[in-house]
Amino acid sequence: MNISITKTTSPKAKPDQNNLGFGKIFTDHMFMMDYTEGQGWHDARIVPYQNLSMAPSAMVFHYGQEMFEGLKAYNGADGKVYLFRPDMNAKRTNATNERLCIPELPEEYFVEAVKAVVSIDRDWIPTASGTSLYIRPFIIATDEFLGVAPSKTYKFIVILSPSGAYYKSGLAPVGIWIEDEYVRAVRGGMGFAKTGGNYAVSLAGQVKAHNDGYSQVLWLDGVERKYIEEVGAMNIFFKINGKIITPMLNGSILPGITRRSVIELCKSWGLDVEERKISVDELIEASQNGTLEEVFGTGTAAVISPVGKLRYKDDVFTIGDGSIGETSQKIYDAITGIQTGTAPDPFGWRVEVE
Ligand SMILES: *Cc1c(COP(=O)(O)O)cnc(C)c1O
Repeated sequence: MNISITKTTSPKAKPDQNNLGFGKIFTDHMFMMDYTEGQGWHDARIVPYQNLSMAPSAMVFHYGQEMFEGLKAYNGADGKVYLFRPDMNAKRTNATNERLCIPELPEEYFVEAVKAVVSIDRDWIPTASGTSLYIRPFIIATDEFLGVAPSKTYKFIVILSPSGAYYKSGLAPVGIWIEDEYVRAVRGGMGFAKTGGNYAVSLAGQVKAHNDGYSQVLWLDGVERKYIEEVGAMNIFFKINGKIITPMLNGSILPGITRRSVIELCKSWGLDVEERKISVDELIEASQNGTLEEVFGTGTAAVISPVGKLRYKDDVFTIGDGSIGETSQKIYDAITGIQTGTAPDPFGWRVEVE
């Protein structure tokens, strides 16, 4: 892939590393590439970060034909810049694309685009502990057409946002609201795809949970509202009686890269890992008979997010003693060690950006 580069003539001032937050600050450059039916993906370019000019009739605004990904670049302890399993994001892009009738994006284009734009803006990767450069690749349908059909033109864009430490003072457990009215996805739908529509549909439940003082929603299956699926933007794990249990991928759950890494890591440690259906009743029973040892979410943003409290209908269950579980902490340390180059990488997950 040949990438043309236009550098900004007015670089922005770098932000204060102590107040980065998430997703509010953007770097000097972005990657763009177009797709035209008959021609394929073309005109790969890095340009100054800028607004897009598009017709109000562009299809993405009306029927939501779009996808996104999320990964991070880390400033390594050794001064190198690392990505974590970007090939998995490239693969997932095409699983999403296929579901949404977006043309396939060659995996190597995805990885090359991410590496190229991160490399140009590498001075933007924050260095403070726990900080990183969040990478947001996305594809939008751009045909000027109000008919319902797959678009014939698209844009693939990669933007970058320096992001703060997810945990300012250690891994603090969060409260989770088990949603029993709204659902996020159904089998045969697009729950496994990383696309905006899955987030639009989740907002009402999230607002409900927030109004009640809970930080995240745990979604149940869309048919019986009985089996556990996942949390907002994270997959969910339970440690019950020494076993690590996570809902199996069934088409309505997003196949997280952190989820997969946690499973591979736990298996390599000799832990029992089960990917299967788990009902909310089983969870409540485990909580009541004292075998529910740990609950944690997994995702690129937080890596591991310990859960200290679960609410279901009128009951609230506390997990452990309100501090992070032993296994949760061990997984967090192992993955962040690989990501930042302070630990060996036996699986080959770390990818250097030259
Ligand atoms: C992105 C995402 C996740 C986590 O995936 P990672 O690859 O681990 O970051 C989980 N659930 C949903 C709905 C997501 O969009």
